[in-house]
Amino acid sequence: MTIEIETTERYGRLEILIDGKWRASSSSKAQTVYDPGTGRAIGEVPFSTREEVDEAIESSQSAFQKWSRMPILDRAKYLFKMKSILEDHFEELSKINTQNHGKTLEESRGELRRTIENVESAISTAYTLSKGETLDQISEGIDEYSVKEPLGVFAIISPFNFPLMVPFWFIPYAIVLGDTVVLKPSEIDPIPTTYLMRLIQDKLGLPQGVINLVHGSKDAVEYLISHKDVKGVTFVGSTPVAKRVYKLAGEHGKRAIVNGGAKNSIVVMPDANIESTISPIVSSFFGNSGQRCLAGSNLIPIGMETHERMLEKFVQASENIKVGYGLDPLTDMGPVISQAAKERIVSYVERGSSEGAKLVRDGREYHTRSKEYQNGFYLGPTIFDQVDQDMSIAREEIFGPVASVLSSIESLDEAIESINENTDFGNMACIFTSSGWIARKFRREVNAGNIGINLGVAQPAANFPFGGRKESFYGVLHAQIDTVDFFTDKKIVISRW
Ligand code: NAD
Repeated sequence: MTIEIETTERYGRLEILIDGKWRASSSSKAQTVYDPGTGRAIGEVPFSTREEVDEAIESSQSAFQKWSRMPILDRAKYLFKMKSILEDHFEELSKINTQNHGKTLEESRGELRRTIENVESAISTAYTLSKGETLDQISEGIDEYSVKEPLGVFAIISPFNFPLMVPFWFIPYAIVLGDTVVLKPSEIDPIPTTYLMRLIQDKLGLPQGVINLVHGSKDAVEYLISHKDVKGVTFVGSTPVAKRVYKLAGEHGKRAIVNGGAKNSIVVMPDANIESTISPIVSSFFGNSGQRCLAGSNLIPIGMETHERMLEKFVQASENIKVGYGLDPLTDMGPVISQAAKERIVSYVERGSSEGAKLVRDGREYHTRSKEYQNGFYLGPTIFDQVDQDMSIAREEIFGPVASVLSSIESLDEAIESINENTDFGNMACIFTSSGWIARKFRREVNAGNIGINLGVAQPAANFPFGGRKESFYGVLHAQIDTVDFFTDKKIVISRW
């Protein structure tokens, strides 16, 4: 079959969305955007100027006055239409996502499905969670009630790994509740996000300024957070940046939901059914080329016997993964996002070897099947055995297709201690077991925001909160459904007539 390879002509220099109109940025600073599967440039992203960010905020601020007064069920009607636009363009958006991010088409479809589920979940809040509470006769002749009021303009900052879904952990909720937003997508793969917003703006007919979009990185983010008219920020990205963003938001008195990096462990108990654990474990470690904040990173078989029973099967299954171009239907795993990411991951492989871990599967020398893709940013699945929990490959976020198998953990208690004490992260942890008692103990004692029992990726549905613990999260309220209380403030009314 022939696969269409993208060229720069189609996307060119990306535009910004200010006050309902797409236009060229006047910025002289820009960055090339790549298709990681071919290594070719497919566009350019300008870094918005301070004046453009100012205009975006001003537009959102002025839109807020009218938008927040519109009846909530009328705002919800826009989301019903938004859902059908996303459904109508499902395949096109999935394909564009694959071309700029590199993930397989199936993975792009999965991401877009969860994006749409967040629109559905936000619609449901208009009918349910947006309501306040009333207590009749709190004192003689006095009633008390609360109303949830929108606050104004919010900055939405997203990472590269889910360019469609992550902005939608926030935007549908913000706008249905009456707020307005300025979105700043990742500068590494801004094409799917920009394309999606173009579809929405052109086909949905949202009032101008409800959603504005600017491009850039550190400067745009910091300026957005410090601007007096921005009421709060949602950020998803790496922990060093997350820490900085949370601090800056605090300094400026802003609300913040700040999701950081991850280092997730998967524990396999001796009583687990090894045959049925392999497939979910392989897709946890190598799905999305290991670039998921919910990807498995440390594999912890309990005891030598479990270790021996698992390792060979895990390595064998990873040999069967077909690495290749994301649009090729035969591909199981696409490239990593960039040459820089590839080099960072390779440096971890070198570090793991020099720290004494045993490299049982080396994905560094991966060659693509077709010449067309030889400049893509490919790596094969990589597995280290005999990893000690103090090694950097067991403690730091690698964010690539590298599995560290810890070989000296003998009990559930040791595994829980390793998860809680040996990494600074607490995004997800999973256990495979046939014992309800063990699963319950794990669920209660592990300090992570998302727990998986007999599955490899514990991803909360849209109508549950999504957040982590320790250095994987800063703030109080989480992404998805929790944002209802983030994007509104409760006003309390006490009345006597
Ligand atoms: P990143 O931190 O490099 O970038 C995230 C966003 O911050 C981008 O929009 C970027 O432009 C901006 N940014 C970059 N440097 C900045 C700075 N100095 N100041 C202010 N803003 C800055 O993250 P990434 O590489 O795009 O994404 C991968 C990371 O995101 C991984 O660490 C992954 O674990 C994490 N992530 C976490 C979750 C979660 O829910 N916890 C979900 C997805 C991804």
